[in-house]
Amino acid sequence: MDNSFECEEPTFKKTNTPKKKRAARNELTTKEKERVNRKLFRQEWLNHEDFKNWLKKIPNHKLKCKCIACNIILSCSKSELEKHNKGKKHSDNVKSLRGLKNMSSFVNRPSKTSTKELHVVKTAEIKLAAFFAENNVSFQLIDKLTPLLKEIFNDSNTA
Ligand SMILES: [Zn+2]
Repeated sequence: MDNSFECEEPTFKKTNTPKKKRAARNELTTKEKERVNRKLFRQEWLNHEDFKNWLKKIPNHKLKCKCIACNIILSCSKSELEKHNKGKKHSDNVKSLRGLKNMSSFVNRPSKTSTKELHVVKTAEIKLAAFFAENNVSFQLIDKLTPLLKEIFNDSNTA
C-alpha cells in the first residue's frame, strides 16, 4: 500500500482528480497533454527528412508505425524513431530499399519498348560498336546505323 504512490509522477500530487477525468474535462496542463500525445503518430513525420524514406503509418493504429526498410513495427514516439534511425542495420536496410526503388523506377519507366527489347538492342549496339571499332568503320556510319537497327528490331519484334 505504501509503495503505490512511489511510481506516480509529481503532477499527480497536486490534485486528487484522476488524470483521465481531467483529460476528459480538458483540464490537463500543457505538459501533461504533451505526455499524452507523445506516443501518437504524427503526420508531419512522413515529411521529416530523417523518417520519410522508411516510415509508414499503420492504418487505424495511432500508437504504432512501421519501418518499411526493416519491416518492423515501432512505437510512435519521436525518440524511439530517432533511435531506430541511427541503427546500423536500419541504415543498411534503408540503403537497399533505395536501391530497390531506383531499380523499379527503371524497370517501370513508361516506354513502349520492354526492358528485354531494350536490353537486346543495347547489347546489339555494343557488339556492333565493338565490331565497327575493330574494322575502322566511321562513327558517322554507326550513328546512322543505330536508329536503323532499332527500327529493324522493333518492326520484326524479335528483340
Ligand atoms: Zn528500420
